[in-house]
Amino acid sequence: MERWVDLARARELTTSLVVKRDEECVPLSSAHGYVLAQPIIADRDDPHADMSAMDGFAVHSSATLSATLDKPISLVIQDSIFAGAEGRIPELVDGQAIRIMTGGRVPLGTTGIVLVEHTEITTDGRLLVHHPSGNHIRRQGEHHRSGDILLDRGHRINAATIATLATVGLTEVPVFTPLRIAVLPTGDELVEPGFPVAPGQIRESNSWALAAHLCALGHVAQRLKPQSDNLDQLRARLDDLSDSYDVIITSGGVSMGDADYVRRLMLEEGQTLFWRIKMKPGSPPLAGRWKGTPIFGLPGNPVSSLVVLRVLVEPWLEQCNHSDATDQLIQVQLGSDLPPVNDRMLFTRLWIDWNQFPLVAYPLSHQGSGHPSSLPNADALAWLEPGTDTTVGSSIPVILL
Ligand code: AMP
Ligand code: MG
Repeated sequence: MERWVDLARARELTTSLVVKRDEECVPLSSAHGYVLAQPIIADRDDPHADMSAMDGFAVHSSATLSATLDKPISLVIQDSIFAGAEGRIPELVDGQAIRIMTGGRVPLGTTGIVLVEHTEITTDGRLLVHHPSGNHIRRQGEHHRSGDILLDRGHRINAATIATLATVGLTEVPVFTPLRIAVLPTGDELVEPGFPVAPGQIRESNSWALAAHLCALGHVAQRLKPQSDNLDQLRARLDDLSDSYDVIITSGGVSMGDADYVRRLMLEEGQTLFWRIKMKPGSPPLAGRWKGTPIFGLPGNPVSSLVVLRVLVEPWLEQCNHSDATDQLIQVQLGSDLPPVNDRMLFTRLWIDWNQFPLVAYPLSHQGSGHPSSLPNADALAWLEPGTDTTVGSSIPVILL
């Protein structure tokens, strides 16, 4: 077991906890938010034939080269082609033009499309072209070829993905079965919202926030009733959870206090990979296995628990999804000084002035790890490695919330 590790080392260690995923098929209509378990392969060329990209007239481009407003070219309109037209497409005859709609299959011999707005029709039905044709043809296979890999395993399905899946004809989508995650808050002082709170008690908020974020990541997170600070009961609870969940996430009880039983139990009886990370807020966490099930012990302080979820657990879940867990950091300019970063990473809560370029970020006034209302108003967390210059005007990386 390692103590007081860098965040990078903590992440490296949790790689050994990555869980093997089950796969299932879900209907296309409810696939949003799931993660692809298989690569998606094109079943046909796209476009599947040469298609017009504009409403206009299919022509031999050489015939319209000299067309101007003053000296229009006159052509005979041979036919009309609509998007979706089945059967044989007519062949373009010299000196003629074929009316074509966007998405219509272009006639054989077509080398250009004249836009509708560059034409007029005479009273006797001839076409007057007053601008040369353009190359408004989408060639067969220009977007992709049959057999191309369009999306990789691990891709999170968004609205654009849904369009691609529909394009290749999938009505059932192979996805990873969401992980069943137990979210267990611990602490004698915790009372569920909706119940009276006595002096000394506080409302339990962590499990609500953690479960909400985990569900937004596409998993099935189950919020559990708070566990009191009792070693034997906690042991029994973890035994139960390890039987019925893929992952256990606890909050509270991992710090240095006498009632921090998650830490005591894990250090004495669990398989703990590390305890404590060089970061602020959020230094107390641990990770490992309880009876074979991956367990993350998050801090009790509300801000710390969410920050650790974001920078440690979320990248780990991305690894479990076989997807790229690269941190998406952007650079901003500091609008005021931040404290110097000494021996541990700082994740200062910032708000961003989106009207300035480069973007300017300011720290929120309350940075305490127990301050519940400073996080909802934050746009980003500063991503400050030890030694980063944190004086006003310097450029720093941040992770958006
Ligand atoms: P602990 O790490 O258990 O010492 O908790 C640190 C601080 O976070 C204490 O002030 C706790 O009361 C508070 N805390 C612990 N768990 C929760 C929770 N689930 N919701 C809100 N606050 C909590
Ligand atoms: Mg506690």
